[in-house]
Amino acid sequence: MSSKKRIETLCVQGGYTPKNGEPRQIPIIQSTTFKYDTSEDMGALFDLKASGYFYTRLQNPTNDTVAGRICALEGGTAAMLTSSGQAANFYSIFNIANCGDHVVCSSAIYGGTFNLFSVTMKKMGIDFTFVSPYCTEDELNSAFKPNTKACFGETIANPALTVLDIEKFAKAAHSHGVPLIIDNTFATPVNCRPIEWGADIVTHSTTKYMDGHGSAVGGAIVDSGKFDWTKYADKFPGLCTPDESYHGITYTESFGLEGAFITKATAQLMRDFGSIQAPQNAFLLGLGLESLHVRMARHCENGLAVAEYLENNPKISWVKYPSLPSDKDYELSKKYLPKGSCGVVSFGVKGGRKAAEKFMAALKVCAIETHVADARTCCLHPASSTHRQMSDDELNAAGVSPDLIRLSCGIESKYDLIEDIEQALETI
Ligand SMILES: *Cc1c(COP(=O)(O)O)cnc(C)c1O
Repeated sequence: MSSKKRIETLCVQGGYTPKNGEPRQIPIIQSTTFKYDTSEDMGALFDLKASGYFYTRLQNPTNDTVAGRICALEGGTAAMLTSSGQAANFYSIFNIANCGDHVVCSSAIYGGTFNLFSVTMKKMGIDFTFVSPYCTEDELNSAFKPNTKACFGETIANPALTVLDIEKFAKAAHSHGVPLIIDNTFATPVNCRPIEWGADIVTHSTTKYMDGHGSAVGGAIVDSGKFDWTKYADKFPGLCTPDESYHGITYTESFGLEGAFITKATAQLMRDFGSIQAPQNAFLLGLGLESLHVRMARHCENGLAVAEYLENNPKISWVKYPSLPSDKDYELSKKYLPKGSCGVVSFGVKGGRKAAEKFMAALKVCAIETHVADARTCCLHPASSTHRQMSDDELNAAGVSPDLIRLSCGIESKYDLIEDIEQALETI
């Protein structure tokens, strides 16, 4: 399926075109290993001299087919699936930044990513500077250092719901000779394609809208193929000089700009860390992608209806939803998210933490879950759950106030959602 087709067609058919007599649905290749006639045949695969499969820790045909669909959706040149969104973001940075390197990152990011970067990757010797997504160009530029290897942000931040000015971040990253990596989980390629705005690498927690049914944890990395690693070869020796663990292969020479990043991440990081997605889960993800464009429209319709209802309710102190005309990010969302943002709405209940907890306990259609962004509406109070490791200062820097409730609107009837919220608000 040519990636020139429209997004709706790519959701349903992208990445997989069966030949005569082949299965219409993507087959699940539930096999850890693959058989070869000669050792030489298999050796060529080990040396990356031929393409094919030998061990599912590195690659599996089901995974590659579904990665191909996501690649087409994002308009990239190569993609891979990972076992989770966490693994995708870790690989996307660790593929180009080593001990002693530095990364510039928007402060409005998912709490799990913040911990990964500021605690675990810091222990690995990689230093992150966090900047406000609203920073000026001067502030942004001054965060870069000679050892900076990447810039990172989320299209729509989870759970702050700020919209990243992708062009501003891309311009700064490129003027310092590093790629911009965008986590596009909340927007999905249906609502925003970051590569079209200058992003070089796109990551996903496919656990959210892409799977869409709350059935499989997963992640994905897509490379635009646009970043010229060879122009900054001294910054990216891992891509531009021979890899001794692969018989001296140089990724940019052997796989070109279109394939170097993903091949290296597969050959080195997947080989050594093994965060592969199970083929069963890849199948479920592929199934979810088939209705992504239909579901996103409903998520956005419900999100907007709920946000408008909350905005006019006297028991609510504030509402954050990027597609609300009164929202601080409305102009950015009109530019980057013209079809709608997502189904997630954040708000504060008057009466603070206590009132928020009472409200949550009274919900019947909306369920309390750590999850977000699937077909069923769910609700979370981050300060007492997912973000409890963070100090108040860190919470505020990430745009997560202690009274914030995150409501993820599913694809049920918006009238039932609003009635449920209404009856829960009456209890406080
Ligand atoms: C959930 C999430 C992640 C982490 O993904 P997992 O699949 O849970 O590992 C990363 N980024 C964003 C924006 C997320 O919402």
